[in-house]
Amino acid sequence: MSISMNLAQIHQQIQQISVQYHRSNVRLLAVSKTKPVQAIEEAVAAGQTAFGENYVQEAVEKIEYFANRNDLEWHFIGPLQSNKTKLVATHFDWIQTVDRLKIAERLNVQRPQEKAPLNVLIQINISDEESKSGIEPEEMLPLAKAISQLPNLKLRGLMAIPKPESEPEQQKIALCKMQQLFHRLQAEFDGIDTLSMGMSDDMAAAIECGSTMVRIGTAIFGARDYSH
Ligand SMILES: *Cc1c(COP(=O)(O)O)cnc(C)c1O
Repeated sequence: MSISMNLAQIHQQIQQISVQYHRSNVRLLAVSKTKPVQAIEEAVAAGQTAFGENYVQEAVEKIEYFANRNDLEWHFIGPLQSNKTKLVATHFDWIQTVDRLKIAERLNVQRPQEKAPLNVLIQINISDEESKSGIEPEEMLPLAKAISQLPNLKLRGLMAIPKPESEPEQQKIALCKMQQLFHRLQAEFDGIDTLSMGMSDDMAAAIECGSTMVRIGTAIFGARDYSH
């Protein structure tokens, strides 16, 4: 199937699930990591404007390729090392994986003044895995408070990559914990409107638990090839 047909199908699924669970305005982030600019061009031609990338150098080349398209929105969704913050601050519109104040402070200083504030999601380690990415839920409010004081960043919400589960009831345990954290954040801060969760295999459960942005790669662009 073509990229435009895949996109149409996913939009239809999002629409159906949203009606079922009384949700609206669920956005689709097209995860284009490892995919060539031609694939992104096809998605853009089909009306997709928001793209997620994981690898800074690869992403910057693509963003520069599309420099004349100022309607596109680029989200950094990979782990970020402090020596790469400047590239993210310079080129991206969003970063979804902030989990340390030090990274946020560097992004704040490095964000070019002529650009709008960088939109930030705090990544939560919701399945309590050994994984290095994401903060513990108890750390959310103090980190959010610190980020909210940085003028070149705009805190928009939360992101999570829960441990993969095959059954929706199991998926919903972590996803609905995220929904509670999101509500707590919204109660404390203005402008919190984005809960980024849900991938190809848990999209329905994520929308049921209040996701406002699903991140889909394979189902749009096909399987990724990491061989080179
Ligand atoms: C790669 C990736 C996705 C997309 O995964 P697919 O299984 O290809 O849909 C979503 N979120 C993050 C953070 C990713 O790294």
